[in-house]
Amino acid sequence: MSAQFYIVPTPIGNLSDITLRAIEVLKSCDYIACEDTRVTRVLTDKYGIGAKLFDCHKFNEKERSEKIISLLEKGKTIALVSDAGTPLISDPGSVLLKELLNKNIKITSLPGACAVTTFLSVLPRESEEFAFIGFIPRSKKEQMEILNKYKHTNCIFYEAPTRLISTLQNILENFDADTKIAVGRELTKLYEEVKIDSVQNIIKYYEKNTLKGEIVVMVYAKETVETPEIELKQKIALLKEENFSPKDIAKIISKLYGTNKNKIYKLTLE
Ligand code: SAM
Repeated sequence: MSAQFYIVPTPIGNLSDITLRAIEVLKSCDYIACEDTRVTRVLTDKYGIGAKLFDCHKFNEKERSEKIISLLEKGKTIALVSDAGTPLISDPGSVLLKELLNKNIKITSLPGACAVTTFLSVLPRESEEFAFIGFIPRSKKEQMEILNKYKHTNCIFYEAPTRLISTLQNILENFDADTKIAVGRELTKLYEEVKIDSVQNIIKYYEKNTLKGEIVVMVYAKETVETPEIELKQKIALLKEENFSPKDIAKIISKLYGTNKNKIYKLTLE
Protein backbone atom coordinates (compact mmCIF):
# COMPACT_ATOMS: atom_id res chain seq x y z
CA MET A 1 0.00 0.00 0.00
CA SER A 2 1.35 3.43 -0.81
CA ALA A 3 1.67 5.79 2.13
CA GLN A 4 0.43 9.32 1.53
CA PHE A 5 1.64 12.19 3.62
CA TYR A 6 0.59 15.78 3.03
CA ILE A 7 1.53 19.18 4.42
CA VAL A 8 -1.66 21.25 4.27
CA PRO A 9 -1.91 25.00 4.95
CA THR A 10 -5.04 26.21 6.73
CA PRO A 11 -6.51 29.76 6.96
CA ILE A 12 -4.74 32.51 8.94
CA GLY A 13 -8.00 34.09 10.05
CA ASN A 14 -10.68 33.98 7.39
CA LEU A 15 -12.00 30.41 7.33
CA SER A 16 -12.72 30.64 3.60
CA ASP A 17 -9.03 30.98 2.80
CA ILE A 18 -8.45 27.31 2.07
CA THR A 19 -7.96 25.80 -1.37
CA LEU A 20 -10.31 23.27 -2.99
CA ARG A 21 -7.39 20.85 -3.17
CA ALA A 22 -6.64 21.28 0.54
CA ILE A 23 -10.25 20.36 1.38
CA GLU A 24 -10.15 17.37 -1.02
CA VAL A 25 -6.88 16.14 0.48
CA LEU A 26 -8.10 16.55 4.06
CA LYS A 27 -11.30 14.68 3.16
CA SER A 28 -9.21 11.83 1.73
CA CYS A 29 -7.14 11.52 4.93
CA ASP A 30 -7.53 8.84 7.58
CA TYR A 31 -5.80 11.08 10.11
CA ILE A 32 -4.90 14.73 10.54
CA ALA A 33 -1.98 15.55 12.83
CA CYS A 34 -2.62 19.02 14.22
CA GLU A 35 -1.19 21.39 16.83
CA ASP A 36 -4.43 21.67 18.74
CA THR A 37 -7.36 19.39 17.91
CA ARG A 38 -9.87 21.99 19.20
CA VAL A 39 -8.64 24.58 16.67
CA THR A 40 -8.57 22.17 13.72
CA ARG A 41 -12.00 20.76 14.66
CA VAL A 42 -13.56 24.15 13.78
CA LEU A 43 -12.23 23.75 10.24
CA THR A 44 -13.06 20.06 9.81
CA ASP A 45 -16.60 20.67 11.09
CA LYS A 46 -17.09 23.56 8.69
CA TYR A 47 -15.97 21.55 5.65
CA GLY A 48 -17.40 18.13 6.60
CA ILE A 49 -13.97 16.53 6.91
CA GLY A 50 -14.24 13.17 8.68
CA ALA A 51 -10.56 12.34 9.35
CA LYS A 52 -9.53 11.44 12.91
CA LEU A 53 -7.56 14.18 14.61
CA PHE A 54 -4.61 13.77 16.93
CA ASP A 55 -2.24 16.34 18.36
CA CYS A 56 1.29 16.82 17.08
CA HIS A 57 2.99 19.89 18.55
CA LYS A 58 6.47 21.03 19.46
CA PHE A 59 6.40 19.13 22.78
CA ASN A 60 5.46 15.68 21.38
CA GLU A 61 6.62 15.87 17.76
CA LYS A 62 9.37 13.28 18.12
CA GLU A 63 7.09 10.71 19.71
CA ARG A 64 4.27 11.48 17.26
CA SER A 65 6.71 10.91 14.36
CA GLU A 66 6.88 7.24 15.35
CA LYS A 67 3.08 6.98 15.41
CA ILE A 68 2.80 8.73 12.02
CA ILE A 69 5.44 6.50 10.42
CA SER A 70 3.74 3.38 11.76
CA LEU A 71 0.35 4.53 10.39
CA LEU A 72 1.90 5.38 7.02
CA GLU A 73 3.51 1.95 6.90
CA LYS A 74 0.02 0.48 7.32
CA GLY A 75 -1.04 2.44 4.23
CA LYS A 76 -2.93 5.22 5.99
CA THR A 77 -3.19 8.70 4.53
CA ILE A 78 -2.15 11.51 6.87
CA ALA A 79 -1.94 15.29 6.71
CA LEU A 80 -0.02 17.67 8.94
CA VAL A 81 -1.69 21.01 9.66
CA SER A 82 -0.91 23.77 12.15
CA ASP A 83 -3.30 26.05 14.02
CA ALA A 84 -3.07 28.62 11.24
CA GLY A 85 -1.22 29.10 7.97
CA THR A 86 1.54 26.91 6.63
CA PRO A 87 3.13 24.21 8.79
CA LEU A 88 6.88 24.69 9.41
CA ILE A 89 6.63 28.46 8.93
CA SER A 90 7.29 29.36 12.58
CA ASP A 91 5.32 26.22 13.36
CA PRO A 92 6.19 22.61 14.20
CA GLY A 93 6.92 19.94 11.58
CA SER A 94 10.70 19.95 11.08
CA VAL A 95 11.39 17.06 13.44
CA LEU A 96 8.68 14.96 11.83
CA LEU A 97 9.80 15.74 8.26
CA LYS A 98 13.38 14.76 9.05
CA GLU A 99 12.15 11.38 10.30
CA LEU A 100 9.97 10.89 7.21
CA LEU A 101 12.83 11.75 4.88
CA ASN A 102 15.07 9.28 6.73
CA LYS A 103 12.48 6.62 5.93
CA ASN A 104 12.26 7.73 2.29
CA ILE A 105 8.58 8.59 2.68
CA LYS A 106 7.23 10.93 0.03
CA ILE A 107 6.00 14.29 1.33
CA THR A 108 3.50 16.29 -0.69
CA SER A 109 3.22 19.95 0.23
CA LEU A 110 0.20 22.03 -0.77
CA PRO A 111 0.42 25.81 -1.30
CA GLY A 112 -1.81 28.07 0.75
CA ALA A 113 -2.27 30.72 3.39
CA CYS A 114 0.75 32.15 5.16
CA ALA A 115 1.03 35.46 7.05
CA VAL A 116 4.42 36.28 5.45
CA THR A 117 3.30 35.99 1.82
CA THR A 118 -0.11 37.58 2.49
CA PHE A 119 1.70 40.55 4.02
CA LEU A 120 4.42 40.79 1.35
CA SER A 121 1.85 40.85 -1.43
CA VAL A 122 0.31 44.05 -0.07
CA LEU A 123 3.63 45.91 0.40
CA PRO A 124 5.15 47.99 -2.40
CA ARG A 125 8.89 47.25 -2.53
CA GLU A 126 11.93 48.25 -4.57
CA SER A 127 13.35 44.75 -4.49
CA GLU A 128 12.14 41.15 -4.37
CA GLU A 129 14.78 40.29 -1.79
CA PHE A 130 13.56 39.68 1.74
CA ALA A 131 14.67 37.91 4.89
CA PHE A 132 12.14 36.19 7.11
CA ILE A 133 13.40 35.62 10.64
CA GLY A 134 10.32 34.05 12.25
CA PHE A 135 9.52 35.45 15.71
CA ILE A 136 12.01 38.22 16.52
CA PRO A 137 14.11 37.47 19.65
CA ARG A 138 13.02 39.28 22.81
CA SER A 139 16.34 40.76 23.96
CA LYS A 140 17.35 44.13 22.58
CA LYS A 141 20.88 42.87 21.89
CA GLU A 142 19.71 39.90 19.81
CA GLN A 143 17.13 42.05 18.02
CA MET A 144 19.78 44.55 16.97
CA GLU A 145 22.22 41.83 15.90
CA ILE A 146 19.70 40.28 13.57
CA LEU A 147 18.27 43.56 12.24
CA ASN A 148 21.78 44.87 11.59
CA LYS A 149 22.66 41.69 9.76
CA TYR A 150 19.73 42.25 7.39
CA LYS A 151 19.68 46.04 7.29
CA HIS A 152 20.11 46.14 3.50
CA THR A 153 17.34 43.58 2.95
CA ASN A 154 13.61 43.88 3.62
CA CYS A 155 13.38 42.05 6.92
CA ILE A 156 10.12 40.40 8.05
CA PHE A 157 9.34 39.05 11.49
CA TYR A 158 6.47 37.92 13.67
CA GLU A 159 5.91 39.76 16.95
CA ALA A 160 3.39 39.68 19.80
CA PRO A 161 1.15 42.79 20.14
CA THR A 162 2.29 43.21 23.77
CA ARG A 163 5.93 43.58 22.65
CA LEU A 164 5.53 45.52 19.41
CA ILE A 165 6.00 49.03 20.87
CA SER A 166 9.13 48.07 22.80
CA THR A 167 10.63 46.36 19.72
CA LEU A 168 9.87 49.46 17.61
CA GLN A 169 11.45 51.64 20.30
CA ASN A 170 14.59 49.51 20.12
CA ILE A 171 14.63 50.06 16.35
CA LEU A 172 14.15 53.82 16.85
CA GLU A 173 17.07 53.95 19.31
CA ASN A 174 19.43 52.06 17.03
CA PHE A 175 18.42 53.08 13.51
CA ASP A 176 17.33 56.35 11.87
CA ALA A 177 14.02 57.81 13.08
CA ASP A 178 12.75 57.68 9.48
CA THR A 179 13.46 53.96 9.09
CA LYS A 180 10.50 52.69 7.09
CA ILE A 181 8.35 50.07 8.76
CA ALA A 182 5.25 48.13 7.74
CA VAL A 183 2.96 46.53 10.29
CA GLY A 184 0.28 44.02 9.27
CA ARG A 185 -2.30 43.33 11.92
CA GLU A 186 -5.12 40.78 11.85
CA LEU A 187 -4.59 40.02 8.15
CA THR A 188 -7.63 38.47 6.42
CA LYS A 189 -9.78 39.22 9.50
CA LEU A 190 -12.46 41.80 10.31
CA TYR A 191 -10.06 44.36 11.79
CA GLU A 192 -7.30 43.84 9.22
CA GLU A 193 -4.92 46.80 9.10
CA VAL A 194 -1.69 47.53 7.24
CA LYS A 195 0.33 50.62 8.26
CA ILE A 196 3.41 51.77 6.37
CA ASP A 197 5.32 54.70 7.85
CA SER A 198 8.51 55.78 9.60
CA VAL A 199 9.25 53.93 12.83
CA GLN A 200 8.61 57.07 14.90
CA ASN A 201 5.18 57.64 13.31
CA ILE A 202 4.21 53.98 13.71
CA ILE A 203 5.06 54.18 17.43
CA LYS A 204 2.96 57.35 17.80
CA TYR A 205 0.07 55.67 15.96
CA TYR A 206 0.05 52.56 18.13
CA GLU A 207 0.45 54.56 21.32
CA LYS A 208 -2.92 56.14 20.46
CA ASN A 209 -4.70 53.14 18.90
CA THR A 210 -5.59 49.67 20.13
CA LEU A 211 -2.84 47.19 19.66
CA LYS A 212 -4.42 43.76 19.74
CA GLY A 213 -4.38 40.75 17.49
CA GLU A 214 -1.79 39.03 15.36
CA ILE A 215 1.10 41.03 14.03
CA VAL A 216 3.67 40.75 11.28
CA VAL A 217 6.29 43.45 10.72
CA MET A 218 8.67 44.42 7.93
CA VAL A 219 11.64 46.73 8.35
CA TYR A 220 12.28 48.10 4.88
CA ALA A 221 15.79 47.71 3.49
CA LYS A 222 18.02 50.67 4.20
CA GLU A 223 18.88 52.29 0.90
CA THR A 224 22.57 52.30 0.05
CA VAL A 225 23.53 55.66 -1.37
CA GLU A 226 26.62 55.37 -3.53
CA THR A 227 29.24 57.92 -2.46
CA PRO A 228 30.63 59.70 -5.54
CA GLU A 229 34.10 58.46 -6.53
CA ILE A 230 35.54 61.98 -6.36
CA GLU A 231 34.58 62.22 -2.68
CA LEU A 232 36.11 58.81 -1.95
CA LYS A 233 39.35 59.87 -3.69
CA GLN A 234 39.52 63.04 -1.55
CA LYS A 235 39.21 61.00 1.65
CA ILE A 236 41.82 58.51 0.40
CA ALA A 237 44.23 61.37 -0.30
CA LEU A 238 43.74 62.73 3.24
CA LEU A 239 44.50 59.35 4.80
CA LYS A 240 47.53 58.86 2.52
CA GLU A 241 48.91 62.20 3.78
CA GLU A 242 48.66 60.72 7.28
CA ASN A 243 50.68 57.68 6.09
CA PHE A 244 47.92 55.09 6.42
CA SER A 245 48.63 51.92 4.39
CA PRO A 246 46.36 51.12 1.37
CA LYS A 247 45.02 48.14 3.33
CA ASP A 248 44.06 50.30 6.32
CA ILE A 249 42.61 53.00 4.08
CA ALA A 250 40.44 50.39 2.34
CA LYS A 251 39.28 49.11 5.72
CA ILE A 252 38.46 52.57 7.15
CA ILE A 253 36.71 54.00 4.09
CA SER A 254 34.67 50.87 3.41
CA LYS A 255 33.49 50.90 7.04
CA LEU A 256 32.62 54.62 6.94
CA TYR A 257 30.90 54.67 3.55
CA GLY A 258 29.69 51.07 3.19
CA THR A 259 31.65 50.87 -0.08
CA ASN A 260 33.31 47.70 -1.34
CA LYS A 261 36.76 47.27 0.27
CA ASN A 262 38.46 46.02 -2.92
CA LYS A 263 37.15 48.98 -4.87
CA ILE A 264 38.71 51.39 -2.32
CA TYR A 265 41.94 49.40 -2.28
CA LYS A 266 42.22 49.73 -6.07
CA LEU A 267 41.55 53.48 -5.83
CA THR A 268 44.36 53.89 -3.25
CA LEU A 269 46.80 52.35 -5.76
CA GLU A 270 45.83 54.72 -8.59
N1 SAM B 1 2.38 29.17 10.19
C1 SAM B 1 1.87 30.50 10.27
C2 SAM B 1 1.98 31.15 8.90
O1 SAM B 1 2.03 30.44 7.89
O2 SAM B 1 1.97 32.39 8.82
C3 SAM B 1 2.55 31.29 11.36
C4 SAM B 1 2.44 30.66 12.70
S1 SAM B 1 3.15 31.59 14.01
C5 SAM B 1 3.01 30.44 15.33
C6 SAM B 1 1.89 32.71 14.42
C7 SAM B 1 2.29 34.15 14.16
O3 SAM B 1 2.10 34.45 12.77
C8 SAM B 1 1.43 35.15 14.90
O4 SAM B 1 1.88 35.35 16.22
C9 SAM B 1 1.61 36.40 14.05
O5 SAM B 1 2.84 37.02 14.33
C10 SAM B 1 1.66 35.79 12.63
N2 SAM B 1 0.30 35.75 12.08
C11 SAM B 1 -0.49 34.67 11.95
N3 SAM B 1 -1.68 35.02 11.44
C12 SAM B 1 -1.64 36.35 11.24
C13 SAM B 1 -2.57 37.30 10.73
N4 SAM B 1 -3.79 36.96 10.36
N5 SAM B 1 -2.18 38.61 10.66
C14 SAM B 1 -0.93 38.98 11.04
N6 SAM B 1 -0.02 38.12 11.52
C15 SAM B 1 -0.37 36.82 11.62
